[in-house]
Amino acid sequence: MDESIYGKTERGQWAPAKPVSYGPAFAWPPRPAAFLKWFFGIPGFLFPWNVPYALLGIAIWAYATPSLATMATLEPGWVLFVLARNVVLAVLVYGAWHLWFYVWRKQGTNFKYNKQWPKPESAVFLFRNQTYDNMFHTLVSGVPIWTAYEVLLLWAYANGWAPMIGFGEHPVAFVALFFLVALIHEVGFYFAHRLLHFPLLYRWAHHLHHRNTNPGPWSGLSMHPIEHAIYFATILLFFVIPAHPIHMINLASRLGLAPSEGHTGFDRLELGDKASMDVSYYAHYLHHKYFEVNYSDGMVPLDKWFGSFHDGTPEAHERMKQRRARMGNKLAQNG
Ligand SMILES: [Zn+2]
Ligand SMILES: [Zn+2]
Repeated sequence: MDESIYGKTERGQWAPAKPVSYGPAFAWPPRPAAFLKWFFGIPGFLFPWNVPYALLGIAIWAYATPSLATMATLEPGWVLFVLARNVVLAVLVYGAWHLWFYVWRKQGTNFKYNKQWPKPESAVFLFRNQTYDNMFHTLVSGVPIWTAYEVLLLWAYANGWAPMIGFGEHPVAFVALFFLVALIHEVGFYFAHRLLHFPLLYRWAHHLHHRNTNPGPWSGLSMHPIEHAIYFATILLFFVIPAHPIHMINLASRLGLAPSEGHTGFDRLELGDKASMDVSYYAHYLHHKYFEVNYSDGMVPLDKWFGSFHDGTPEAHERMKQRRARMGNKLAQNG
């Protein structure tokens, strides 16, 4: 497929022609027609991610979660089952993206932001290999910490320590909570990520994730345990938000799995010779390239409101450079 229809390559970097945008959810004045088109379109609010992740949450609850009666007492049997289920999910999802783009190289470097493949050997990574290093941090720290938060909440629901509602008595709230999960996922990530960029936490923890300047799917959850503990902590909100375990699982599994598609390093997934799907996470790719921009991406324009937005255009690049110069002056004055 001809990638030049959608963008261009300069100095080994492919960039989409279309600037990064948040969609019209928070546009002012409101744009109802554009809103509906975005809400039902692809890519849009419902697809490709929110509905599939909600369905996955329902399926995990229905087919791969022990009963509340079993989970009322904290016992190794069911806890290890939840851990094993999350390991399987992670291997399937991260593994599938990795196989497709990086092992089978199904579309070569078409739509790949950085035209170089990650180096087969690099001293900055464990085992001198980016993929093995990323898999290690994901499976040894990421999935267990995700599971720990999830187990805590499941145990709490089983004992009535977390407020629980059912579909039968609150059908509207039950459906609305899936929308809230999408919002918590995004806004929670912004604040956790912003926090991790404060110098001390960056040095202690977040620098580990940022070694991936040419990320692949497994880079997504490749983080320091301190970062995992902060990143997954939004699951604790379900101690105060009345909801069903399905919603908690929806958020937990999404936090656990969605970083895979956020770090593929590709803008579009080719579907045959003519069609392709926008899996664009260009905003986050720019974050890995320039660090102090785009702490989140999605529908809430948080980076715009807080002055850290980079939409990929030369104008945005100029603004970033001016911001850096101002910060440099400030540091020099303080120092
Ligand atoms: Zn990242
Ligand atoms: Zn970061």
